[in-house]
Amino acid sequence: MLDSVRARLTLWYTGVLALVLLIFAAATYGFLSRLATERTDNSLVESANAFASFINNERADEVFSPTDSAVSEALREFHFTDRTFTVYDKTHRLIASSDTVTNSRPKLRGPASATALPPNLLGEVQRSGNAYVTLPEAKEDTGDIRVYGRLTKVNGREFIIVVLRSLQDQDEMLEQLRTALYIAIPLSLLVASLGGYFLARKSLAPVVMMGNKAARIGAANLHERLPVANERDELGRLARVFNDLLARLNDSFEQQRRFMADASHELRTPVAVVRGESEVVLSQTDRTPEDYRESLAIVHDEGRRLTRIVEDLFMLARADAGQYQVRLSDFYLDEVVGESVRALRSLAAQRRVEMRYETSGELPLRADEALIRRMVVNLLDNAIKYTPANGTVDVTCVRRGSQYLLTVADTGIGIPSEAQPHVFERFYRADKARSSAEVMGDHDPGSGAGLGLAIARWIAEVHHGQLELIRSDETGSVFVVSLPVTDHNSKSPPKDSSN
Ligand code: ADP
Repeated sequence: MLDSVRARLTLWYTGVLALVLLIFAAATYGFLSRLATERTDNSLVESANAFASFINNERADEVFSPTDSAVSEALREFHFTDRTFTVYDKTHRLIASSDTVTNSRPKLRGPASATALPPNLLGEVQRSGNAYVTLPEAKEDTGDIRVYGRLTKVNGREFIIVVLRSLQDQDEMLEQLRTALYIAIPLSLLVASLGGYFLARKSLAPVVMMGNKAARIGAANLHERLPVANERDELGRLARVFNDLLARLNDSFEQQRRFMADASHELRTPVAVVRGESEVVLSQTDRTPEDYRESLAIVHDEGRRLTRIVEDLFMLARADAGQYQVRLSDFYLDEVVGESVRALRSLAAQRRVEMRYETSGELPLRADEALIRRMVVNLLDNAIKYTPANGTVDVTCVRRGSQYLLTVADTGIGIPSEAQPHVFERFYRADKARSSAEVMGDHDPGSGAGLGLAIARWIAEVHHGQLELIRSDETGSVFVVSLPVTDHNSKSPPKDSSN
């Protein structure tokens, strides 16, 4: 039961309310009981004062020197039904008591005589002029008794007036208050906890609904979203955050799906060529060694193409997973670019494309040499591939401030403007028919799967640099790589990276 937030909320709510109610009840009870005692005391003082002034003003004239009988007489006239008056002289002798002088039955049913008074009360009154004391319940039903005594002088004679009053009424009132609280507190707690439980249930209902809905969302229906009742409240915000998460998941799922579909599509063509070619060879028995060589060459080319695609895919997969370990070494960028240009010169020559290379001198760099080489080769490879015969590919490598700029400019066929924003996307090829048929011829092992620029850009970025297509039209294309100049302390950097 405590595993439910509803139950826990209700318990907390009820607990806090119980604490507040108890504190409130205790404070109220304390306040009322003090107030009642104060009122009783005030009324005792008032009646003692009234009696004092009564015998002083009314009787003093009549009885110039008040005798015991005069005081008794005054008491008979001056009586209350709910309290008892007793008068003592300064020797603490009881002169008169309203219990004995009145026939009316006072409410006080307790020790109203001097004998029941605490012995030091009268002495205390004489010392300080007045005093209070509470006598505990002597008999059943009498209640505690509050006693007030004061000193008064009539015609020069000292009297001690003592007024006693039962606290039974007050006790009964407090008793009733206690009973009311004993009933009201548990009852209000019960009502509040029921209300709290239903309130918690109602407020948490959207959470339960969202939970049920979220439980039904899987890979197959990632496009579904949680209902957002109120955008501005906390639950609405939670639903929105969850929906955003679903959207991101959906996007990356879509990306993965597209990647898989594109990858299998790219792999299907060379595999189909290899299969078709080998089936033809196997089905014909009267083939010349020339025919076999030709077929094997095709199979070999497709094998190379497959290897390249698989390697590219593997590299991108590791890059995506953040598992590609960049192996840094110190080398000269101008040398790596120069070597790549030399390596591709024969390919360019085959296509009758002229390659020119210019550099502004030594450009030391700390980077992953194999990756940088691959990026340069990808760019050069594209420039040669998409440049028709008699064209040129200009490669320059210079330092501009804190950047190295590698520019590959060709006089090739260019990239249509609508395709330019997409050339760095995986598996994107501006024009499949054009790239494979017009420029390179079918089954060219150099024709990629549209991964070359995606990989080149990733390599630039992993080195905190950038790869951008600066210009591309029918007169050619210009790609520029910028790489930050790294701190280069070593005078003779190792030429070979750890690869
Ligand atoms: P691919 O393996 O097909 O060359 P890339 O990612 O290297 O894939 O290039 C993507 C597409 O960009 C290519 O298919 C091509 O259409 C276009 N492209 C890249 N470089 C050039 C260039 N120098 N000239 C013209 N088009 C290019």
